[in-house]
Amino acid sequence: MVSSSVVGFIGLGHMGGPMAANLVKAGHRVIGYDLVPGLRAAAADAGVETAASAAEAAAGADVVITMLPAGRHVLALYGSEGLLAAARPGTLFADCSTIDVADARAAHEAVLAAGHRPLDAPVSGGVVGAEAGTLTFMAGGEAADFARAEPLLLAMGKKAVHCGGAGAGQAAKICNNMILGISMIAVSEAFVLGESLGLSHRALFDVASTASGQCWALTVNCPVPGPVPGSPANRDYAPGFAAPLMAKDLGLAANAARAGGVDAELGLRAARTYAEFAEGEGEGQDFSGIVRAIRRRSEPSMTQNGTPE
Ligand code: NAD
Repeated sequence: MVSSSVVGFIGLGHMGGPMAANLVKAGHRVIGYDLVPGLRAAAADAGVETAASAAEAAAGADVVITMLPAGRHVLALYGSEGLLAAARPGTLFADCSTIDVADARAAHEAVLAAGHRPLDAPVSGGVVGAEAGTLTFMAGGEAADFARAEPLLLAMGKKAVHCGGAGAGQAAKICNNMILGISMIAVSEAFVLGESLGLSHRALFDVASTASGQCWALTVNCPVPGPVPGSPANRDYAPGFAAPLMAKDLGLAANAARAGGVDAELGLRAARTYAEFAEGEGEGQDFSGIVRAIRRRSEPSMTQNGTPE
């Protein structure tokens, strides 16, 4: 086992709760805090020592991990809510939330200005990966700070990639998810087009999965039931990777594209498509449920299960 650390862990929600529990299992002392009392109680059941405030959780820590909804929460906590001021000099602040690249860079600056060390380290793998300890971390910051965090990241995940300097982890995350969002729409449109042409799902899958249309959205998270038995389409699109989270990540990618003047035509389009879907019928669905929205918007001769009438 690697040497144990004292970890302050702020944000014990769907992701943070099981991540903190896995740090405890790996032999680290974890002092946790969440605004929600029930989440603090659940974390305590998993062996996390709970603090009365975020600042208290950070005060004696070697490393402070945050797993919060958005950049504004991270920046408020670091600044006005006193987290940076409460920590010992040189504390490593690893933010694992998915936030705007610009916010991640601002967080790095705030951490450095307070005399600490920053790392952005968002994850992919979802709640299932957080529970199983199989997340992938993508990190931005100095190599020495990544090396310091790596044993902790690998106690919560199976892989940690150092992507570059400040914000590089967030950048990798949103670029990857922009590919994923666009490709899921592409695969879904292809299935609906195939349906209108009388092509079976199986035939299209058998061809595209071994031809140049091959991609994760098709071969792992296939948006129609049948070809990939484990995909969310086979359980009425229960997530999986929920559509609102895809909408959030595409929104972050769109922000970054606009800020950088990048002509990400399909990325911006995908962000709009998923924002509409997530606010409506897709709210509780896996992001592959977009196929149903595409089918519904198509010719009325298509039935909802995709067979031509
Ligand atoms: P969540 O809403 O379940 O958890 C966030 C927690 O932060 C909440 O419990 C909330 O009470 C707490 N919180 C907010 N402000 C706080 C404060 N000031 N002090 C203490 N606690 C505070 O969200 P989640 O699903 O765990 O996601 C967390 C992050 O991980 C998000 O940025 C999300 O985009 C990212 N992410 C989520 C998934 C997923 O599948 N859920 C996958 C990859 C990445």
